[in-house]
Amino acid sequence: MNKLFDQRIKNLIDMFSVECYLIHPNKNIDCVCKDFDTKQGSKSCPICLSTGNQITIRIIEAAKQPYSLSDMQSKYKFSSDGSVFYSKDIYPVHTDDIIVYPLPNNKWEIAGVNYSMKYESTTNIPVYYQSYCADKKFDTIVFLKNLSKIVKRDLL
Ligand SMILES: [Zn+2]
Repeated sequence: MNKLFDQRIKNLIDMFSVECYLIHPNKNIDCVCKDFDTKQGSKSCPICLSTGNQITIRIIEAAKQPYSLSDMQSKYKFSSDGSVFYSKDIYPVHTDDIIVYPLPNNKWEIAGVNYSMKYESTTNIPVYYQSYCADKKFDTIVFLKNLSKIVKRDLL
């Protein structure tokens, strides 16, 4: 991609993005709540937000667009559609990260990253990330209550 294209994409992301939280579980460090047998974190854990791993929380700017799979075969395999988030190259977005995105009426979408693609320019420098997400099956209230304590902001 050329520089002009890169800049246009970044401008678009700037124009439509809002502040959200990016939660990255560090797969190498288990949380104390992690069950040895199931390898799952506790649903109510205030430290790891039920990921079972030590987490890093960052504030990122991301633009969201809903998507649905147009291919009929895919439609049968995945019953629910999801959201795709576009964010700039400031922080990488990984599979299994969680994006907490503000919705109208002071609500939040808790989206689990199924996969994330890094778009690079001709200089191999990442330009932006495109992250395909589905709703995370969390207890939203418990999750947001615990996240509120960590980020010191009332999200409920
Ligand atoms: Zn935990």
